[in-house]
Amino acid sequence: QSLEMVDLLKSKLVEKGYDQEVNVVKTGCFGFCGQGPIIKVHPDNVFYVQVGLDDIDEIINEHIIKGRTVERLLYKEPETQVNLAKHDEMSFYKKQYRIALRNCGLINPEDINEYIAFNGYEALGKVLAEKTPEQVIEIVKASGLRGRGGGGFSTGLKWELTRKPVADQKYVICNADEGDPGAFMDRSILEGDPHSVLEAMAIAGYAIGASKGIIYIRAEYPLAISRLQVAMEQAKEFGLLGENIFGSDFNFDIEIKLGAGAFVCGEETALIHSVEGSRGEPTKKPPYPSIQGYHKKPTSVNNVETYANIAPIILKGAEWFSSIGTEQSKGTKVFALAGKVNNVGLVEVPMGTTLREIIYDIGGGIIGGKEFKAVQTGGPSGGVITKLDLDTPIDYESLKSIGSMMGSGGMIVMDEDDCMVNIAKFYLDFTQDESCGKCTPCRLGTKRMYEILDKITTGEGTMEDITKLRNLGIMIKDSALCGLGQTAPNPVLSTLEYFYDEYLAHIQDKR
Ligand code: SF4
Repeated sequence: QSLEMVDLLKSKLVEKGYDQEVNVVKTGCFGFCGQGPIIKVHPDNVFYVQVGLDDIDEIINEHIIKGRTVERLLYKEPETQVNLAKHDEMSFYKKQYRIALRNCGLINPEDINEYIAFNGYEALGKVLAEKTPEQVIEIVKASGLRGRGGGGFSTGLKWELTRKPVADQKYVICNADEGDPGAFMDRSILEGDPHSVLEAMAIAGYAIGASKGIIYIRAEYPLAISRLQVAMEQAKEFGLLGENIFGSDFNFDIEIKLGAGAFVCGEETALIHSVEGSRGEPTKKPPYPSIQGYHKKPTSVNNVETYANIAPIILKGAEWFSSIGTEQSKGTKVFALAGKVNNVGLVEVPMGTTLREIIYDIGGGIIGGKEFKAVQTGGPSGGVITKLDLDTPIDYESLKSIGSMMGSGGMIVMDEDDCMVNIAKFYLDFTQDESCGKCTPCRLGTKRMYEILDKITTGEGTMEDITKLRNLGIMIKDSALCGLGQTAPNPVLSTLEYFYDEYLAHIQDKR
């Protein structure tokens, strides 16, 4: 509908003779998904929500021609019922701190000039002119940036480990295969600000000594792919990709490889096999990709959101970045906030923000004023967090300590009506389906766990089944080859811990 709206807006402006005064620009996602389609009028900074095709005439007649705000299209705060015109006054945005999403909803992602106007490619120019590769690595290490794809490994350290080995070719890979159900942070960054990823990959290439980059992206992201292609062509035209970048002797080129959207390809060895054209199956580490990766050459794999933080770190400094967040988790994290909250969408918050702040202050609380029951972070690999831990500051360590994990940023909120056994079953259905089948504990174990859950949720379960479920879960965690299998039992184990009564209710009431 947004695309139809753009066409209609343009034709109406021509019809009314305002097409020379008003420029219609397509941007990436504003993040406030529950309120789309959104039209923002500059320079007035007025943010119209849930706009329909029928509203276009009124926006032009009232706002553009008469300079009057169309009140009925403004966002109404759920708590105060006050209409707000400026997005930075809305509770959804007030507590956010946008680094990775800085340009999303702000620039036209298909126009490199707009990216450049917001300091785009300045960081690349700076490192090529002023820094040695080792200095770049030191800055990234000192910033404390950790991998946003789920692993949480130090990005600077990964670059250092890939720089060290001597090789005739090295590679930089961008993992844009985003497989968590409900997560769309990476897609949104690529659709809204593709140059931020290209620029960061080039910086990574310079730092580790690679001249080739690969973006591994799922084929189900056609808009992100086409925007990347446009961005790559423009960057080449501007001499920012390809040979002698910024007139230096640094050469760096990027190609796109399409993935089929297998969840296991989020694991870096599986991803590399898939890029090579083999089955996307993980292999045992070591050797790590930093030593033997793509075509057995040193390779650094980082995800989209990690790259989106690089240019601001170079421009504003490691100290600035490390001043945001907690002791061990620096910077911000983007979450895809979904489920039973009033404000669903993409939110970027400083590490250390509490779950309560995200769900109630930014998310606007639970739909219909119902009671919060739990929130799942980390997607199918994470666990549930109950109201007892709502004040936990979000960072890698804290989430782990309460039985969940950061993952790539999925955050699904559940209310009093949700059955936690069914939720666990939903996630296990996903992981057993996505298991690559290479190792027995994961291939067969997750299937057996799913069968037991199915028995329990259809009123056929026994107490013995609960014991089997728990034992199987522990065994799979200990013996599966890769992260997919090692974390697949988490939703079941954490719901068994916090919502045991719901398992009992299914068994005792035979429902
Ligand atoms: Fe494949 Fe699962 Fe084994 Fe990972 S744990 S290698 S996904 S079968």
